[in-house]
Parts: sequence; C-alpha cells; structure tokens
Amino acid sequence: MGEQYLHQHRSTLSTLYDSEVFTMAGRQFDLAADAINLPESVRERTKYPKRCLTVIFPVRRDDGSIHVFEGYRVQHHLSLGPTKGGLRFHPDVNIGEVAALAMWMSWKCALVGLPYGGAKGGVAVDPFQLSSRELENLSRRYMQEMIPFVGPNIDVMAPDVGTNEQVMAWMMDTYSIQVGNAVPAIVTGKPLSVGGSEGRREATGRGVAHMVKTYLETLRIPLKEATVVVQGFGNVGTEAALAMTEYGARVVAVGDVSGGYHRKSGIDVAKAIEYQRHNRTLRDWDGGDAFSNEELLELPCTVLIPAALERVITEENAPRLRCRVLAEAANGPTTNGADRVLERRGDIDVIPDVLCNAGGVIVSYFEWIQDLQSTYWVRAEVLRKLYEILDRAHHAVEKQKNRFNFSRRLAALSLGIGRVAEAKTARGLFP
Ligand code: NAD
Repeated sequence: MGEQYLHQHRSTLSTLYDSEVFTMAGRQFDLAADAINLPESVRERTKYPKRCLTVIFPVRRDDGSIHVFEGYRVQHHLSLGPTKGGLRFHPDVNIGEVAALAMWMSWKCALVGLPYGGAKGGVAVDPFQLSSRELENLSRRYMQEMIPFVGPNIDVMAPDVGTNEQVMAWMMDTYSIQVGNAVPAIVTGKPLSVGGSEGRREATGRGVAHMVKTYLETLRIPLKEATVVVQGFGNVGTEAALAMTEYGARVVAVGDVSGGYHRKSGIDVAKAIEYQRHNRTLRDWDGGDAFSNEELLELPCTVLIPAALERVITEENAPRLRCRVLAEAANGPTTNGADRVLERRGDIDVIPDVLCNAGGVIVSYFEWIQDLQSTYWVRAEVLRKLYEILDRAHHAVEKQKNRFNFSRRLAALSLGIGRVAEAKTARGLFP
C-alpha cells in the first residue's frame, strides 16, 4: 500500500513541470541522489520545487492594442533563506524549463555555500519584438503580479536571458513604489545608480574565465596557446570572451542567435562587443567568416564555452566535439545522453554549469548583502571575494570527484544536493 501510494504520488508530482528540460534536471538529480544514497524520506521533497506562481497579464502595446502574456516564477526550496534566481524573457519559456532552472539554482547556491534556495522566473515573449516602452510595461506588470510572491527576504530576482540591468531597475522601482520606500534588495543585477554592485555585470563571465584558467593550469595548457569558442554573445558570453582574451587566450569564434563567426587568427572581441551593443546581435558582422551555430560547437578548440540556452550539446553532436575543456557558462547546455557520450570518450574535461557559472549568483549575493546593509564594496574587493568562493567550491568538487570516482558533474551536483537534503533533515518536519 505504501509503495502504491508512493508510485501514484510520484507520477502526480512530476506532471506539472513535464518538459524535456525538467526531465533532464530530474534525471541528474536521481543519478546524484543514488550516488550518495540519499534516503527516500528526504528525496522527493529535496527534488521537487516547493511552489510556483503562473500569471496571465495584459500589456498595452504602442499602437493601443492589448496583448496578454504568460509568466512564471518557481521557488525550489525555502529551507536556507530567500530563494534566488534569474528572470528570463524568451519566446520558448515554459514552466517546466523555469522549474528546471530553479532546481539547478538550488544545487549551485548550496555548492558555493550561499544561504539561498533556488528560484527562476520567465515570461514567454520575444523582447526584441517590443519597443522600449512596451518592454518597460511588461517588466513592471510582471513584477506587479509577483508582489505577493517575492520580497528581499522571500525571493530575489536577477537578470537572465533576455533581461538586463534596465529591466531590473524597472522591477525595483515597481516594487518600491508599492511598499512606499526604496527596496534595492528586491532584485540584483541592477545599475550601480540604484544599488547595484561593482563587478556584478561581469561576474558570471569572469567567473567562467577564472574557472577555465584554473582547469587549464591543472592540465598544464598555457593560456597563450589556448583557443576559445563561445556560443551566445550576451551578458555572459561577451564577458567570458573578454576575460579570456585578457588572460592571453585566442578567441577564434563567437556566435549568437544569428549564427557563428570564425577567424582563425583571433576575433577582435572588443569590436564584436561594440557591434553587438549597437545592433543587439552579431547579425551581418564582418569581423569573421559567418557559418552555422551547429558547426560552431564542433570547431577544433581548446575551450568550448556554451553561453546561450539549454540542451545544445546532445547525444548526436557530442561525439563530434573537438574541444579539450567544455566550460558550461549556460545552464543545462549538455543533455543526459551527451553526458554519457562525454564520459565514455574521457578526453574532454567538463566544468559543470553549477560550478562554472556560479559567479553570477555569488556577486548577486554580494549585491544583496550590500543593499541590506546600505554599504558598498569596491570592485577589487568584490572580485577577490568572488574568486575565493569559486576556488573553495572548485577544491570541494575535485575532492568529491576523486574520493568517489565520480564525473565532475556528479561530484558538483551530489555536493549541492547533499547539502540541501542535510539542511532539510536538520530542520525536521513540521508539524
Ligand atoms: P543574454 O540574453 O544576455 O544572452 C543570450 C545569448 O544567447 C544572446 O547572444 C543570444 O543571441 C544567444 N542565443 C539565443 N538563442 C540562441 C540560439 N538558439 N543559438 C545560439 N545563440 C543563441 O543571456 P545571458 O544572461 O548571457 O545568459 C546566457 C546563459 O547563461 C543562460 O543559460 C543563462 O541561464 C546563463 N546564466 C546567466 C547568468 C547571468 O548572470 N546573466 C548567470 C548564470 C547563468
């Protein structure tokens, strides 16, 4: 009877978020939970998101018409503090994807030791199809709908795909007007002028580059001899590419939604960024030979940095990757099937997303602390503290990997998941 209940219960639990990405995150969880023998009593409540809110909301377009959008926010666990996670504006956003991203945020925060649960939000919209005023209307209305669900001690948003500092400033303003005083700690990734942190804009990309540098040193590959390919040229991709060139590496190809751009002698990253800022994409950029995004991933290089969306490295293309290090700047870029291929191959060092891109949430945490205390840190202090935390997490992952002979992803996930489960067990069950 108990088993039957559990079985029925499980299938009920899994339907709300049904999607390829949630199944993938769930599979990763199951593998890690099995690997550390996570007790059944704490397994499901560690795995599934605690709560979510779906909102349907109207936005007035510039031509006076009204368009209705669907938005989500998923809070994965509330056991350690407020939840924390980005807000995505993208046409393919769905609640399953948002739930998977929230889950990964939980493991990431626990891995690097932040007092947060994971969260994520999203609106199914193509922000490039909106005017600036429409984007502002949409951002404000979404935050307005979220007010009963978020707060500086409840759930704190940040930028993700399709959102940026300006969107965060509108969110902060909308929330502040509602409560009657400025609440900078309601979101992170804000402009400096409204309580943003020095170093936040570049934190994720710089963190990725710092991790790559660390692994290349371990592999005894000099940075000056390393070639780099970056897929995704938004906040994370541009900053990672820039930091890699500063370290002396040669970025030979970059790409975004418009396709890939290749130059064997090295892309002029600063020029590419200037072009991207001006045109919002790299479309028609003439600083490299244009070719497809699929080919981009398969270029020979020392370091491949996917910095766009999930599930781009699959069972199908994983056998053709020609990098030495795969640095997962994006969340969930590698499918479960691709993981198996890469493990079998054994010739590519994977820096898993929860470690590789953790710089973003670490500096978001710094921003939140500064806002709560009305204090401000200088950039050098922010970056020093960021690298300290990343290095500590990196050592913990390597220790776990070597101790149990795990893959690096399994090591990172099992540490994060184990810590969340430990906190839940220590708190016990109420009532
Ligand atoms: P962004 O919106 O600034 O940039 C996204 C980039 O991906 C753009 O260049 C876009 O053109 C490109 N892109 C979109 N669809 C594509 C496709 N089908 N093929 C190729 N390129 C495509 O977003 P971002 O903030 O840089 O986030 C990128 C990734 O990093 C996401 O997976 C996000 O979850 C992850 N991440 C972001 C942060 C952060 O601080 N912003 C932190 C941790 C992880």
